[in-house]
Amino acid sequence: MDAIPAGRFDPLAAVRTPTAGGFDLLLAGTVFQDIIFTGLPHAPQPGTEIWSEGMGSCPGGVANQAIAAARLGLRTGLAAAFGDDGYGDYNWKILAGQEHVDLSLSRRVAGWHSPVTVSLSVDHDRSMVTHGHPAPVTPSELIGEQPPPALAAVADLGHELEPWALAAHSDGVKLFGDVGWDPSGEWSQTRLDNLQYFYAFMPNQREAMAFTGKENPWAALYSLADRVPVAVVTLGQQGAMAVDSETGEEEWVPSLPVTAYDPTGAGDCFGAAFVVGCLAGWPLGDRLRFANLCAALAVQEVGGSLAAPGWGDIADWWK
Ligand code: ADP
Repeated sequence: MDAIPAGRFDPLAAVRTPTAGGFDLLLAGTVFQDIIFTGLPHAPQPGTEIWSEGMGSCPGGVANQAIAAARLGLRTGLAAAFGDDGYGDYNWKILAGQEHVDLSLSRRVAGWHSPVTVSLSVDHDRSMVTHGHPAPVTPSELIGEQPPPALAAVADLGHELEPWALAAHSDGVKLFGDVGWDPSGEWSQTRLDNLQYFYAFMPNQREAMAFTGKENPWAALYSLADRVPVAVVTLGQQGAMAVDSETGEEEWVPSLPVTAYDPTGAGDCFGAAFVVGCLAGWPLGDRLRFANLCAALAVQEVGGSLAAPGWGDIADWWK
């Protein structure tokens, strides 16, 4: 994937050498099937049936960030396992056929079913029900010992850093940390120590406090900023805040006053947009405002990953 398809906006044209091969962003993980119900009158009660106002069905998990990044014009490569079922067929078709995500490092896994997440939104509260087993192939098995050239990659900040991510780090790829598929989200010293390999880490406030053991998001942000050059904590309806220790910048942006119909994937959309700003070399405030704008546009639509904005949607707002 060396070229941006004709007619698509390329936000990195000014910073990338014209002959640069490889990816702008390499992502690794698991693709879920998301089924989203929005506008529920109240949480479901045992033995009752309720109707939702809106409904969406789309690729989820790591696909959220892959679609958001590709729609913003990043040459996006995804190394992911896809289930051996109808959801796997559908998700592969959407990502490769419709969204211009390169799946040359991805694989259908025989006998493995796509994990499914059902998301139920009542006002701003969301409950999720997930079912599935971890994919039987790891990102390192999919990518191999030598990751392809990339400007940036998103890797799980796991207890053990994936070998592909370590190799990418040694090659000078900027690593962005993701929380990954860990229901406990638990704090551990090893995880914090692993931040030394990352350029940026962008958890939401709940994750940030769990990781650092701090009782409020600001304290969590500063604790992360001691360990990683760029620390971001997203605050849902309250916006987002960040510290760039390399430039000494600190910023907070309030969220935009939009009617949020579906917060599914807001953090992933925010993350992809923040990567664009980092790779383009924007000041921290612009990176945050851009990511905050993209995420606000995404939450106004029901549709999870497929609600992520493209440049055409943003152009009127980003001057
Ligand atoms: P996650 O989706 O990972 O839980 P957040 O809930 O913190 O992350 O949301 C990520 C970003 O999405 C926020 O920092 C903000 O920019 C945007 N966002 C989330 N909810 C809203 C909302 N109700 N209105 C406007 N923007 C929102």
